Amino acid sequence: MAEPVAPLVSLNGISKVFANGVTALAGFHLDIREGEFVSLLGPSGCGKSTALRLIAGLAQPTAGSVIWPGPAGLDHRAEIGFVFQEPTLMPWANVTDNVWLPLRLRGISKREAQGRIAESLSLVGLEAFAEAYPRELSGGMKMRVSIARALTLKPRLLLMDEPFGALDEITRFRLNDDLLRLKRDLSCTIVFVTHSVFESVYLSDRVAVMTPHPGCIAAEIRVDRSGERSMNFRTSARYAELCRDVSQVLAELTSNEPL
Ligand code: ADP
Repeated sequence: MAEPVAPLVSLNGISKVFANGVTALAGFHLDIREGEFVSLLGPSGCGKSTALRLIAGLAQPTAGSVIWPGPAGLDHRAEIGFVFQEPTLMPWANVTDNVWLPLRLRGISKREAQGRIAESLSLVGLEAFAEAYPRELSGGMKMRVSIARALTLKPRLLLMDEPFGALDEITRFRLNDDLLRLKRDLSCTIVFVTHSVFESVYLSDRVAVMTPHPGCIAAEIRVDRSGERSMNFRTSARYAELCRDVSQVLAELTSNEPL
């Protein structure tokens, strides 16, 4: 039998208590393997963003540990791209300058960064908008710029915090497909936060369903990768069945929660 692959990152027995006494996570365990697309799914306030921030090193656990089993000495934070809920673009800067930002913060000049910026914009289909300003872009395009900005650092791990939550369904579906194509092209690992059952099943290899208050992983549902993810998958009996299974787990976990 093949040796199981060591996780890229493990969250081990994590608890996170904020200064105001709120326990966001308790007994939280999750292994993320190289190349996986894992969704964290759960109701608002169950600790999904907190878990993502712990992986990114933007917050520290109160107990437990975030373990990177790879070669010691690697700067894991340098290998992480983070995409926030809001595109958070600088309104006074054009698309090129917005995408340049992470490289600029590392002391890389715009001239040196030009190739990387162009490559990132091409990956999200925005080559023609390099000179445009955020006010000239639709919501979906702004989110593409935000993704391009995270890609300039060529992340091995892309952390995405409900990136498509504010978009209309048609745009969201398109960006879902673009993201899957991107992942194939870049062979990166993605942890994706969402509260949409449909989105999590469409995108993921594994859906990790979280309990509310405090959050921990209550169930993991695998979505096999055989066959392309496309409109055919969205309308398949298999997709409907998986969405039903995941919805059922969520409903059981949240049945006693106040609305
Ligand atoms: P989700 O992403 O699932 O909506 P969050 O991780 O944002 O959930 O929040 C989990 C819980 O922790 C919530 O009750 C939220 O109010 C609380 N929380 C999040 N960040 C902070 C913070 N910086 N200080 C205090 N409480 C926080």
